[in-house]
Amino acid sequence: MPISPGVLTGDDYRAVVAACKSGGYALPAVNVTSTSTVNAVLESAAQNKSDVIIQISDGGAEFFAGKGIASCDALRARVLGAVSMAQHVHLVAAQYGVCVVLHTDHAHRDLLPWVDALVAHSEGFYEGTKKTLFSSHMIDLSAEKIDDNLEVSEFFLRRLAKIGMSLEIELGVTGGEEDGVGVECHPGRPPYAPPCNGGDVGGVIRDLHQEQELQKVPGLPPAYAGVARDDNSHLYTNPTDVLRAYDQLSSIGHFSIAASFGNVHGVYAPGNVQLRPEILRESQELVARTHGLGANPLDLVFHGGSGSEPDKIAAAIKYGVFKMNIDTDTQFAYAKPVGDYVGAHAAAFRSQIDPETGKPYKKEYDPRTWLRLAEQGLIARMTQAFTDLGSVGKTIAG
Ligand SMILES: [Zn+2]
Repeated sequence: MPISPGVLTGDDYRAVVAACKSGGYALPAVNVTSTSTVNAVLESAAQNKSDVIIQISDGGAEFFAGKGIASCDALRARVLGAVSMAQHVHLVAAQYGVCVVLHTDHAHRDLLPWVDALVAHSEGFYEGTKKTLFSSHMIDLSAEKIDDNLEVSEFFLRRLAKIGMSLEIELGVTGGEEDGVGVECHPGRPPYAPPCNGGDVGGVIRDLHQEQELQKVPGLPPAYAGVARDDNSHLYTNPTDVLRAYDQLSSIGHFSIAASFGNVHGVYAPGNVQLRPEILRESQELVARTHGLGANPLDLVFHGGSGSEPDKIAAAIKYGVFKMNIDTDTQFAYAKPVGDYVGAHAAAFRSQIDPETGKPYKKEYDPRTWLRLAEQGLIARMTQAFTDLGSVGKTIAG
């Protein structure tokens, strides 16, 4: 049955994952921060006739809702911003003729209330539409004990599966830093500042301002203590951990695994990163052998795709990666044309009228002029990503 263009949820989401795996390609998952970045990603997907994954981090969601809200109540901004982004994509995506997966990025322990509230929004959306706001969410407890990671993942997956949503988990820690991941969450400001008003974020969790509020996530396993690992031995995922995740989660609902094979967030000088994609192959083979399954039974995710060599990307896809996250490179691609433009039109960013000729600079400093250049930079970088991942021309929209 043909799949309509627009946001993919439930069985349609699983269909695009299966199409990637059987077709030997993967989709880029791009972090967005605004309607401008969302629209550029959609435009690039349309140009390349590829489906695409749009995702938002907690910091991106704060920005999407508005820093004015975030400065008063970070959780409220994170929830409203993610919902706002998703609603924008639901409204416009079909116009681009491709399929779009909506996803949230890393949610470590302190961000579980964010995921909880977003699931509540999807549950409400599902009642009226039989679709969910997001296709999947990520929970990243990779820095914690595997027992705790899987117990909390199972808890959320049971709830997500009821409305056809998927869960991405992380096993092994991705190095580097991406949007605050890998460093202190948000330096200089507590995670949940006191709210400006008594508004409602719309989820089950309301007015969460301190860490102990985690305990208010209904049904969260009480034994979950969130003890951090005291070593760094898990920068490379252990295939036996992957097997444990499969054993514990596969009967509950659809999930994907961000497995670490030396990948890092961000772009660094060459030589700093030792990628070992064979870890993905070993994980796939262990699960397939143990359970008598065909090749590549796991749906794997490649974090830290920025700056990665095409041969490593190809190897990762061969071993079952269907999603590659890209953020640092697309941020730079969006920023660089603005820098070039401001450099070439510096006078228009200092005064409204040319002091010598009296000519107005309005057209030059109009934000649509330079933001469009930013969008075109992002579109060009995305075209490279679709090409690297082999997804050009492969949209499942019919
Ligand atoms: Zn990541």
